[in-house]
Amino acid sequence: MSTRSPILAARGLRKTFGGFTAVDVESFEVPRGEVTALIGPNGAGKTTLFDLVSGFVSGDTGTIEFDGRAVQALPAHKRARLGLVRTFQLTRLFNDLDAVDNLLVGTLPAGRIGLAASTLRPFRSRRDLVADRERALAELERVGLTPVAHIPVGKLSGGQRKLVEFARALMAEPTALLLDEPFAGVNPSIREDMMRYVNAFVADGGTVLLVEHDLPRVMQIAQRVVVLDRGAVISTGTPAEVTADQRVIDAYIGK
Ligand code: ADP
Repeated sequence: MSTRSPILAARGLRKTFGGFTAVDVESFEVPRGEVTALIGPNGAGKTTLFDLVSGFVSGDTGTIEFDGRAVQALPAHKRARLGLVRTFQLTRLFNDLDAVDNLLVGTLPAGRIGLAASTLRPFRSRRDLVADRERALAELERVGLTPVAHIPVGKLSGGQRKLVEFARALMAEPTALLLDEPFAGVNPSIREDMMRYVNAFVADGGTVLLVEHDLPRVMQIAQRVVVLDRGAVISTGTPAEVTADQRVIDAYIGK
């Protein structure tokens, strides 16, 4: 067992919709500097747990600690500012804008719009903008998108759009990235690229939590797997451990 504290730790996390319990997790941890995959059958609560951790929905009960700080009361953009940044299964991009502008729009922290826009002197914000633009171009280059950086993203393939979303998440300088189905609907070549970029982020000291249905890819990329079923964690371990766990076979793999 690692002696380092987990970067993310949730305790007693519950979320109900009406009378239905979507998530009821006693303990959920994400170790630092690794890829953790969250898997489980449809309706198991993966998206809800992801939403709870990233702050897009708030839990009925429970605590969430990120990097030693209680974050359960913070909205998503404040968690993002602390370094906890997510992507979406269906990319949330502005189709008419090119990739560069999507990266620039996506990273404007909500708190900065308004206050900073009204208080910063024009020449200063202009210099910031140039720096941001250079960073956006650098992030797009990092994920191999330089050739399509100036095309409206609505014209890009599903895989390219996932890469734009990934690059946009990197713009926020995350320490932990939550990736919602990064390999779904992505052609094999871009899928391999995405795996490399995820591994590179982790090699640089980052942490990744991903939700993914593509089990072969999960087994390849994750050091640790958490299996959810009916809102609860039924197994946690290495890919080999969880795939040999009879509860996981019964609930998920065997189906
Ligand atoms: P998964 O991502 O593993 O497929 P979800 O987290 O999307 O599972 O859903 C878990 C359960 O919670 C499902 O039964 C789903 O119908 C229910 N659920 C999720 N979001 C809502 C919501 N906003 N309102 C009502 N029920 C919901």
